[in-house]
Amino acid sequence: MRKFFSILCLLPVMILAQTGDDEFVNPKDLIYDIVIDLRYSTPDHSFLNLPEGDTRLPKFYTCNESLMTLSLANALKLAQDSLRNIRSHNGKSYPHGIGIKIWDGYRPRAVQYLLFEIYPNPAYVADPNSGSMHNRGGAVDLTLVDLSTGEELLMPTLFDDFSVAASHSYMDLPQEAIENRTLLRNIMVNVAGLQTYGAEWWHYNLPGAGSFPLKDFQMK
Ligand SMILES: [Zn+2]
Repeated sequence: MRKFFSILCLLPVMILAQTGDDEFVNPKDLIYDIVIDLRYSTPDHSFLNLPEGDTRLPKFYTCNESLMTLSLANALKLAQDSLRNIRSHNGKSYPHGIGIKIWDGYRPRAVQYLLFEIYPNPAYVADPNSGSMHNRGGAVDLTLVDLSTGEELLMPTLFDDFSVAASHSYMDLPQEAIENRTLLRNIMVNVAGLQTYGAEWWHYNLPGAGSFPLKDFQMK
């Protein structure tokens, strides 16, 4: 059954085959050890304060496969190639290096309307009328994991914690969380060439992706 879903998940890539930087790809095709954990595909959306059993988001995220533009996936490949070589950071050892875990990549525009309906605050959820960089395949939400254990590194907050603690400038945190947030930002900005978003430590944009078209195909 899992394989069946995987084949279905790849269909949009084949259907939407384009050429150039805004071609959609599955990052796993470029980065063999990247971890995918699409939080919106899971039944637990307590982080969005949705009632238990609410299926509105999983209806759009029917599989645990992420898509994004080729240029964004290439940027993440540079980041992962660098992270994988880290053997120690902030006093901890990482025998197999550090890796990226993706929480969200391409997001159908219909999801943007739904998220804005649930949380109509443009500081944290882009107005669907103008669209999000996620709708263009030019943004990614991610964190870091220990490649030996798969465990997430300590970060300032959980995903979609829409509070001041998610801001890059928030410092009332354990030193370890600050160091890990800084490592993520340094790698994403200086190695991958991506741009930060001040209000969310987990969100990164591909420069120039604002010119990519808004998309609304469903991943299924
Ligand atoms: Zn995001």
